[in-house]
Order: sequence, then C-alpha cells, then structure tokens
Amino acid sequence: MSESIDELLLKSNHKKEELIRLLSVEPGPETEKVLQAGLRVKAEHPGRIVYLRGLIELSNRCARNCYYCGIRAANPMVERYTLSDEEVYQAADFAWKEGFGSLVIQAGELKNKTFTHHIARLLKGIHQRTHNELTITLSLGEQSAETYRLWREAGAERYLLRIETTNRQLFEHIHPHNKAHNFDARMHALTLLRQEGYQVGTGVMIGLPGQTLADLADDLLFFKTQDIDMVGMGPYIEHPDIPLSAEDALLWPSQERFRIGLLMIALLRLNMPWINIAASTALETLDPLGRQKGILAGANVVMPNLTPVPNRKKYLLYDNKPNLDKDPALSTTSLNQVIQEIGETISYHIAGSSMHYLRRTGQIEG
Ligand code: SAH
Repeated sequence: MSESIDELLLKSNHKKEELIRLLSVEPGPETEKVLQAGLRVKAEHPGRIVYLRGLIELSNRCARNCYYCGIRAANPMVERYTLSDEEVYQAADFAWKEGFGSLVIQAGELKNKTFTHHIARLLKGIHQRTHNELTITLSLGEQSAETYRLWREAGAERYLLRIETTNRQLFEHIHPHNKAHNFDARMHALTLLRQEGYQVGTGVMIGLPGQTLADLADDLLFFKTQDIDMVGMGPYIEHPDIPLSAEDALLWPSQERFRIGLLMIALLRLNMPWINIAASTALETLDPLGRQKGILAGANVVMPNLTPVPNRKKYLLYDNKPNLDKDPALSTTSLNQVIQEIGETISYHIAGSSMHYLRRTGQIEG
C-alpha cells in the first residue's frame, strides 16, 4: 500500500484495496489525476472516438416493483404507454439516416408471448427497412433462454442487463422480497445472455443508500471476472414516488454521486481498456456537462434519446431527466459540436462493437 496514486494509475489490474483507495481520492487535483488516467487509457485503446446509439424507450409498462425505479408497476402516477410500430420505425429511420449505426431498445420488463413476439417483429422490421445497417441492443430485463434466443435470431446482437449492485444484501434491500426479484436469477440471466451469443452489457447504480466504496470496488472487479463487453452505470437519482425515497436522507450529496460516477468510469477504463462504456443519462441529469465529463473520464458511448417527445416525460426512471422537450434532430446536431469541442470524434456509420467482444471472439471490425 505504499505506492503513490500516480503509480497506482499506471496499473491495469487493480486489487480491491487499490480500487477502494482510488475511489477514496479527494475532490480536486487527486480526482482529476484519476480522471485523466481514464482519458489517457481511452486515447491509447479505443481511441478518442465516440459511438452513438439511438435510444428508443419503447414502453413504460413493467411487471416489476424495484424500489428505486419510477416506472415500477405499483406507481399509480405513471401514465402507461407503448410506442406504436410506426413510431419505433420512424425513430429507427432517423438513427439510420443520421448514421448512428446502432440502436438501443429499452422498456420496463414484461414476460409474455405477446410482448416477446412484438419485440421479434420489431427487430425484423427495423432490419428490413434499414438494410441490416443498424446493430440493435436490447434492454428488456430478465427473460428466459428461449426468449433471449428468439430475439437473437430475430436480429438483436447486444443486451444490457444491469446487475444494479453486486452486494447481495444491498440488492435485496432495494428490491421486493419475492421470486420476481432475485439476485441469483439476475446473475443467471447474464450467463444466459452470454450463452446465447450476445455482446453482454451490465452495470450498477452508484451512490445507492447504504452503498460503500468497497461495494463499488467489488462491482468493478465483477465486470472484470465476468469478462463483460460493455458497461452502462451511473449515479442513483432520487424520485419522489418510489419506496427508496424514504432513505433520501442517507444519500451522498448529488455532486459526490456524480464525482464517484466519473471515478468509476475512469477506473473501469484502466482495468478493462477495450470495453464499451456509456456516458449515462443519469450523469447528464446531475450535471449539464455530464456526458462530456463522462467521455473525458474514459467513456466512449453516448445514447441520444430518440423516443417521441410526448412519451419521454412518461419514461421517468428518476427525477429531472434531461432533454424532455428537445427535438432529436436538434440535440444530435448540437451533440456533434459538443463532442468535437472536447477533442473527440463521433464515428458515424459504424456498428461500434465492443473491441473487447471482437477480440474475445476473434473477429475483426468490419
Ligand atoms: N427493465 C429493464 C430496463 C431497466 S431501466 C431492466 O430491468 O433491465 C434501466 C436502468 O435504469 C436500470 O437497470 C437501473 O440501473 C436504472 N435506474 C432505474 N431507476 C434509477 C434511479 N432512480 N436512478 C438511477 N438509475 C436508475
């Protein structure tokens, strides 16, 4: 433990104690050092490049009751919606024409045949009209191996399923205690996704009530031992109508959740140089420059929101979600500028697969 912060930042295989030490740095110059190391490793590995994924929030209908989530089934304040196929296709066409290369379809979690087949139909429809030029990521929760297989065969290549926290007790604390919310089942779902041939993404919330820096160090080590291809993680954010709001007084101040969110990105980049890391919407929620700061800490993926404007206000996982009123065309033009201003380049017309995935499967990016 006698190594200096500078020495630790040259390493790429941190032990838990080292990660805790690096997550414990003070705000100011020490924090900046860690973030700069994240950017250095990004520049040397994937490069100073940003991939875009158009985000389609397909539906806020959800069968689950996660205590932290605004669209949980038991929240009566939510006006439920599901986008029409036409709305989804319009968003996909937009992403395709703008050269995004990739889409993410996210929704609450439903497990029934109608939903499963609806997704398969959309996947095929999108591929057909965009000439298979969009790579599609799904983020639709825990499903059976058969469902994951059906969607894979219908043309989904990537899947995002956050473990939320790798601390089992904390996981149980932020979820109802029943069969539908089970830590082992969530872990198992990640294994299934891997088996079905997806590029697998996971992630955690940062700054949950009662979460410690040791927990976050464990989360980083988990991504590595699971050989994860992509990570989306971001600060936990309050919402007035969720059960976890009873614990708001325990939360770290929001700037701290934000700062530690950036440290997590930088440390992940150091330890997993080739993976895709998203600059999450939650970062942007806590700081108007959150996206840029995430990229400058080592993230390489941005997900502009392509959900039709009237529906965005209904997909409120947490409070103060940004870009509720902006037209997608406008926000993507300004996004291009913003990315250039920080010395990065958006890669258009490219699938932007995780290089970690391409390397582990022996492929070369086409
Ligand atoms: N139903 C899908 C998608 C969930 S929403 C699934 O279960 O995977 C995507 C992510 O939003 C969640 O995995 C969670 O990490 C995050 N999220 C939900 N509520 C949040 C909150 N209050 N603050 C920050 N992130 C939140």
